[in-house]
Amino acid sequence: MLTDRVHTFGQWLKRKHGERVHKIALDAGFTCPNRDGVKGTGGCTFCNNASFSPNGRRPAPLREQLDSGRRGIARRTRASKYLAYFQAYTNTYADVGELKRQYDEALAMDGMIGLAVGTRPDCVPDAVLDLLADYRQQGLEVILELGLQSAFDDTLDRVNRGHGLKEYIHACLAARRRGIPVCTHLIVGLPGEDVWHCKETLNIVLDIGTDGLKLHPLHVVKHTLLAHQWRRGQYAPLSREEYVGIAADLIERTPWDVVYHRVTGTAPTELLLAPSWCDQKWPVVNAVVAELERRGTRQGSALNGIGAS
Ligand code: SF4
Repeated sequence: MLTDRVHTFGQWLKRKHGERVHKIALDAGFTCPNRDGVKGTGGCTFCNNASFSPNGRRPAPLREQLDSGRRGIARRTRASKYLAYFQAYTNTYADVGELKRQYDEALAMDGMIGLAVGTRPDCVPDAVLDLLADYRQQGLEVILELGLQSAFDDTLDRVNRGHGLKEYIHACLAARRRGIPVCTHLIVGLPGEDVWHCKETLNIVLDIGTDGLKLHPLHVVKHTLLAHQWRRGQYAPLSREEYVGIAADLIERTPWDVVYHRVTGTAPTELLLAPSWCDQKWPVVNAVVAELERRGTRQGSALNGIGAS
């Protein structure tokens, strides 16, 4: 079972709030400074840039997304507590007044216990951190999700991230100084990287200090530069076995008190080109658990030299 081997976010939330808390993923219509020239142009090589075209993305009003998210959860569970997950693109990329309006709208929903805000490390000015810290002081759950992907600047350059490790260190420390927990996003299988890079990135992130981690394999999706590179044979995606092995290695090297928000990620089938196994989550999660079971290890085992108890 995943929770026997990995300290999951679901487990952490349930222990803290006494019941299951469900995330409602939102697209608040933000864009990205790595597209419009503010931080860079062209976007990350793996990002589906077609989504940025003016007619390609018209998210429903937040209220509708919240209602439909809650209805979907009600069909599956009797949950009554939710976390608003501002997921799409750069969710701190707006004037702080506009951000507050959007976050407040989500927080006003019955049963909403807080926010998870996904963003780039170079897009969290002090005013935004102060706003998020304010919500924390009101007793709300707030998690700042920072996309680092790799701690290697040459890798970040290769995928045109438009920021380096330095910006991550600054944002992560500034957030945690204000008591805002950070969840760090890492990608396994970036061009030019192997298992060594992944382990080094994890070591660096843990040395800096983080509260949570999200792992996912690099997806090749349509309408990206990475898709061209893949078609030309310049990028070879990971096999499922390679990913599972690396994910297990990273989990074993992560202290138990760091929370795993995700051990894999999927891409929509209509966009996914490769690897084909990235169209479903649970077979990959189950394979990671099976690999840890086979090794007799769990999260943190490699740090104290013991197997799973
Ligand atoms: S992956 Fe994120 S940071 Fe990169 S271009 Fe897309 S939205 Fe921007």
